[in-house]
Amino acid sequence: MTQTITVIRGDGIGPEIMDATLHVLEAMDLGLQYEEADAGLAALEKHGELIPQSTMDSIRRNRVALKSPLTTPVGEGFRSINVELRKRFDLYANVRPAKSFPNTRSRFPSGVDVITVRENTEGAYIGEGQEVSADGETAVLTQKVTRRGSERIVRYAFELARKVGRRKVTIVHKANILKSTSGLFLKTARAVAAEYPDIECDEMIVDACCMKLVMQPETFDVIVTTNLFGDILSDLCAGLVGGLGLAPGANIGSDAAIFEAVHGTAPDIAGQGKANPCALLLGAAQMLDHLGMPEKAASLRAAIIATLEAQDSLTPDLGGSGNTMSFAKAIASRV
Ligand code: ATP
Ligand code: MG
Repeated sequence: MTQTITVIRGDGIGPEIMDATLHVLEAMDLGLQYEEADAGLAALEKHGELIPQSTMDSIRRNRVALKSPLTTPVGEGFRSINVELRKRFDLYANVRPAKSFPNTRSRFPSGVDVITVRENTEGAYIGEGQEVSADGETAVLTQKVTRRGSERIVRYAFELARKVGRRKVTIVHKANILKSTSGLFLKTARAVAAEYPDIECDEMIVDACCMKLVMQPETFDVIVTTNLFGDILSDLCAGLVGGLGLAPGANIGSDAAIFEAVHGTAPDIAGQGKANPCALLLGAAQMLDHLGMPEKAASLRAAIIATLEAQDSLTPDLGGSGNTMSFAKAIASRV
């Protein structure tokens, strides 16, 4: 059966980077089919809704979506579309690889290859229990960690490690201080880790982890952690290897998975062919891993690396004089 992917072209630079990404995927002979669906501003203009039912149905049916950045209109009581999609499909795992690439003006142009697996539905981000006292002097935040939530994210991290051939998972926590929440996460994580004797497991307190990531990032492989720590650590890791233009992410649940670039719609450069398509392309590589095509994912990453190494048609953010599509063509010629 042919696997169909829901494709959301998105807003701002979204359509440009999606055209570029699909151009490369089409050169790869993947046997995939692509079904376009609207979301964001483009959907609001066409259907009067940010996420039309037809888009929800498409994602539910295909279970895999490749998504460009979306604009959530400000004011008018709109909730972030990305948050909405995460809620509706219970996309509990946020997976963000950070890998060194050559010629990217980053601090670590080689040696780093870390995947952060962040719990995406609970912890400090439950959106309940936030209170400020009437006099404005005291604020309270409730965190919630469940055994089920912890177990499924840690299991996801170990399964991912196995699937893509990683050797180590680091459990990041603050159980010495946040004894209840982080304590439950750590205890649950240890029990899951025991089921994976083939994968090395270590534990690290989040502050120590930050220091070690900055000093010796090459010693990390897969990191699994709770929502707030994962939010911070995944940006830290993206910063180590060159920032937004190269940072992909996936939001994964049991019924659906959405692959994307971490960056936004970049309205300042939209429609000018200046956008770097690599983040979305790397999101597509994650998608290929997810679909059980790790050798295709590896060849896509290798083509991106070779193109960066050759400095062939790179976009202006990488100091090149190419454009979005010429960069994509240079990558497509190497897959
Ligand atoms: P949004 O409101 O959708 O988040 P934004 O303006 O915050 O949009 P970001 O995507 O977060 O845009 O980008 C921040 C900066 O990084 C912008 O100056 C943008 O031009 C640049 N940038 C983001 N993505 C890319 C890309 N793929 N290629 C080149 N530059 C990019
Ligand atoms: Mg932004």
